[in-house]
Amino acid sequence: MNNYPDIELDIEKAGDFLDLQPSRLTDLIEKRNLLQNWDEYDNMYRFEGHAGGIPSGSVLIDNGSSFKLIRGFPKIRRAMLLEPSIKVNFSGIDSVVVEEKMNGYNVRVVEYDDELIAFTRSGHVCPYTTERIQNFLERDFFRDNPDIVVYGEMVGPENPYVQKSVYNVESLDFFVFDMRYKDTGDALSVFRRREMAEVYGLKQVMLFGNFPLEKAAEKVKEIIKAIGKEGREGVMIKDPDMVLQPVKYTCSESNCSDLQHAFRFYNESGKDFLFSRVVREGFQTHEWDENEEEFHKRCLRLGKSMLGPMRDTIAHVSGGERISDDFSIRVKDREVIDRFITYLERFGLDLLFDTPHKSGNEYIINIRKINKSTSDKTQALLEGQLWS
Ligand code: ATP
Ligand code: MG
Repeated sequence: MNNYPDIELDIEKAGDFLDLQPSRLTDLIEKRNLLQNWDEYDNMYRFEGHAGGIPSGSVLIDNGSSFKLIRGFPKIRRAMLLEPSIKVNFSGIDSVVVEEKMNGYNVRVVEYDDELIAFTRSGHVCPYTTERIQNFLERDFFRDNPDIVVYGEMVGPENPYVQKSVYNVESLDFFVFDMRYKDTGDALSVFRRREMAEVYGLKQVMLFGNFPLEKAAEKVKEIIKAIGKEGREGVMIKDPDMVLQPVKYTCSESNCSDLQHAFRFYNESGKDFLFSRVVREGFQTHEWDENEEEFHKRCLRLGKSMLGPMRDTIAHVSGGERISDDFSIRVKDREVIDRFITYLERFGLDLLFDTPHKSGNEYIINIRKINKSTSDKTQALLEGQLWS
């Protein structure tokens, strides 16, 4: 054991397993780059931020006599311009695969102690997602491939993180987009992964095709224009062998829909989040060489996505209401509700929960996330306070 009462880890053994000096590991614990999970998952430790070459969100599982490392999902960089980014990032290969980038939240699934568990991007075990995946993921894949971590997007309207109704998912569903070996972190090739998912009946993100490098930018443009109209998010451009890093690219409508959501809570949204979406629009309109009419439509879409929600927020607060983000979750086991409430409250969220109501053999709970900062700021401005 170590000298840090809030973390119970055998530093020597863990350091050995991770190939890190014990002093380095102690340093990570001291700086809170290595943190212990809670409750029944307190034998799991998550890496946060810069952690000695271990990706943020990685989880170290301490099985008593042995360890396992579930690596965090790597950051995917974004193309601002398709043509040059594809050329530069995929030089040396002949073709790229284009898959759908779905708009939900990133989840890793492994089987542990006879149960499937779902880690969020940060390496927390989300009690809600964990309960949900028991219901719709077959176990065979995980039994037959215990050395593989499955990465996918949880998508649908009923969750606390990203609510989207554009995928024909009624409540919540899981779509595989990556598989990696636990030991090395190496990814399976795109086609091997897709075949495995198919064989085991796991749903997966849509494949648009494998395009010759020189045609890819034009193809992506067509795809983006088509799916943008349906409110879908965008695409991931990948090396079929998954050796070169994927690149992401999104639809104008999706950038604007992010802005629309974020401007409702303008005082809580990160400035970078807002600004980067505006910059994307600038580069897209340049690359697609739009005529005045198309450009005008884009300006209107962008402007409306920012001012529309602001106008609503100010009107709401002026009418005496508070701004909130409302969503619902659905569970089979009522006990999960309490665990989930405790979990969310640990992140310091200000939440109000309705009494659960029954729907078939499940319970639905409506949750209201209070956006105190935007409500207070708007109120103050309405009362004559100055911006700064
Ligand atoms: P980053 O990965 O750059 O840290 P982020 O957390 O802001 O980005 P996004 O901009 O949504 O997230 O882009 C990356 C995320 O896209 C991945 O973490 C994953 O959850 C999601 N995703 C959806 N579809 C796919 C797909 N087909 N392939 C890979 N990732 C996908
Ligand atoms: Mg996303």
